[in-house]
Amino acid sequence: MLILISDAFDPLLPDKLKKFGEVTGDKNRLAEADVVLVRSKTQCNREYIDSAPKLKLIIRGGVGTDNIDKEYAGERSIQVNNTPRASAIAVGELAFALMLAVPNRLIEGHNSMMQGKWIKKELKRSELYGKTLCLVGAGNIATEVARRAAAFGMKVFAYDKYVQKSAYAEMKQSISELAAVADYLSLHVPLTDETRGMINGAMIGKMKEGAVLINTCRGGCIDAEEVAAALKSGKLRAYATDVWPSDPPPADYPILKAPNVIMTPHIGASSSENLLRIGREVESIIEEFVKGGKA
Ligand code: NAD
Repeated sequence: MLILISDAFDPLLPDKLKKFGEVTGDKNRLAEADVVLVRSKTQCNREYIDSAPKLKLIIRGGVGTDNIDKEYAGERSIQVNNTPRASAIAVGELAFALMLAVPNRLIEGHNSMMQGKWIKKELKRSELYGKTLCLVGAGNIATEVARRAAAFGMKVFAYDKYVQKSAYAEMKQSISELAAVADYLSLHVPLTDETRGMINGAMIGKMKEGAVLINTCRGGCIDAEEVAAALKSGKLRAYATDVWPSDPPPADYPILKAPNVIMTPHIGASSSENLLRIGREVESIIEEFVKGGKA
């Protein structure tokens, strides 16, 4: 069995997987691969899958599987797995870090000091304590964010089309109802036809003046033109994001030139601890696959 590791995983993972067969990072050997390990960089589209006639298993180290054509993989009888639980803490912490950076003016404070400016009087801070955090989605990552928000004394609400209850958030019945009460609105849904562009001008229009939008799920879940316009008008106070329409985004992506944006280059799942957790899940998926006689 040949296992092709196509994207960045824990550097010790190849050694751990050797018990199952040969492990390679050489993407030119795709045609020989039985198992392919990807994160978000490799696009497992129809053309990619067609280039891998022996492929039986695709493992996405991470949560979203929107970079894999699962329907076509199914037609080719290729099993697709992800590691759904591993990344919740890593992404939850980054969402929280992005949220903390806004009212604490961390970016402006740091940049002004770097420029030799002392703007102590100008940098007015505010607190998360007592503010309302609204979560779109009530799954694994939203739950980690909600737990942290409770410790900060925030009021936490959530809306999830498919989940009615959360131990950490009070549920709202619609996203409009949720957006209307948010001081901070944080997105935690998969990118699907239903969620693509869900934060558009109409939705922003329902939000409070000066609300903050945080996005650690997918760039495609916002309408970037309309979010940029809302940042320019001040309707949105800030947009803090880890995610983009592509990695990296095109140079003319409107968010890159909009005011009050805090950005990270899609590093939500990339903590060293998380890469270890993902590695352990990958190992057990391959073990089950081999035990089931599918290899
Ligand atoms: P999850 O499956 O545990 O939770 C997602 C929730 O979204 C589910 O409860 C689901 O019911 C809900 N949902 C689906 N469609 C919806 C809709 N139309 N309206 C409202 N709710 C809807 O997933 P998770 O682990 O919390 O991850 C969420 C997303 O975060 C992933 O799909 C992925 O795109 C993204 N992610 C980003 C990074 C990163 O590096 N920044 C890392 C991991 C995951």
